[in-house]
Amino acid sequence: MNEWFDKIPVEEMIEWRRHIHQNPELSFKEYNTAAYVKEKLRSFGQIEIAEPTETSVLGILKGDFGGKTILLRADMDALPMQEESGLPYQSVVANAAHTCGHDTHTAMLLAAAKVLSGMKHQLHGTVKFIFQHAEEVNPGGAKSIVDSGLIDDVDAVIGLHIISNLDAGSINVHTEGPATTAADGFFLNIQGKGSHGSMPQKGIDPIIVGVQMINEFQTVISRYATPGEMAVLTVGEFKAGEAPNIISDKAYMSASVRTVNEETRQRIAQRIKDIVDKTCQIYGASYDLDYQFSYPSVINDKNLSELVMKSAKEVLGAEMVREVPIISASEDFAYYRQIAPISFVQLGGGTAADGCGFANHHPKFMIKEDSLISGVKTEVQSVLNFLK
Ligand SMILES: [Zn+2]
Ligand SMILES: [Zn+2]
Repeated sequence: MNEWFDKIPVEEMIEWRRHIHQNPELSFKEYNTAAYVKEKLRSFGQIEIAEPTETSVLGILKGDFGGKTILLRADMDALPMQEESGLPYQSVVANAAHTCGHDTHTAMLLAAAKVLSGMKHQLHGTVKFIFQHAEEVNPGGAKSIVDSGLIDDVDAVIGLHIISNLDAGSINVHTEGPATTAADGFFLNIQGKGSHGSMPQKGIDPIIVGVQMINEFQTVISRYATPGEMAVLTVGEFKAGEAPNIISDKAYMSASVRTVNEETRQRIAQRIKDIVDKTCQIYGASYDLDYQFSYPSVINDKNLSELVMKSAKEVLGAEMVREVPIISASEDFAYYRQIAPISFVQLGGGTAADGCGFANHHPKFMIKEDSLISGVKTEVQSVLNFLK
């Protein structure tokens, strides 16, 4: 057992977590949470505080000896939904709930900051702690943190995400390459020309235009994505028409597009735009296409991810640490790669057997609080190994 295990403020951490859980704030509105985090960081001593944006907090801990700089990241925002966990510390805010576990990320990072601030005199290098706002809403908070210039000196970034349905306290790492997908999408209005159902020659049927496009979209993945590389295009919504004898004047569709490779992502977007444009041209329809690029894919650095895995094994035992495949979720943590190698790691929050069988973003999402101790141990040990 490492001597610093005793220094993990377990009870306080649970108290912080429950406080944040009960008082969730939505993306870009994390004012009270940020103030709470600042107050705690100040109470630890040793940590300088900066404010990259209105609702984010950066803690800076300079070790007594020179060395590299590492950034640990937690996000702090809640989701616009009603919590149904039934927990005694359930959200007291209408239509806001910590159903993605960002409350636990914040509490774990505070605990890691407290432990590490007690080691200032042994540290070779600097540890930065970013309490990030707005992960859940495009364009996300990570980009503005990167653009703030306050983390330009960072040599590595580690982020932990708690996930239910994974063994409580386990550390799950995809060590190399894309760990999440880029989740883009589009919203398309097709303007045709209405007519009587018996007189198609006088109209422009937007249903036909839409159907042709949807058929053509089926070639996008098979012909324009690289074989073996994950890519998905789903038209999830297609609406048009009112009655059997009326040619509708408009149609609407929306779709999601997931990719893992930036070049493929751009190629597919262009192909979709071309199909929409040319198909409308053929039929004489017009259109309004809103193509939305969301977060890019999180690309894990191999060396850094291996360091996190090794660190987790040292503090949790090898049986608690696993290599996992890519997950088809998306995360704005991806943007930190613009400044340094990154590693995004999943912390098991407990399974159905622990009463934690509901997925992240479900109104009954729950995690086993013991898992947080594994998260803090992994964060601290990874920092110590990185700065060694
Ligand atoms: Zn989420
Ligand atoms: Zn999340």
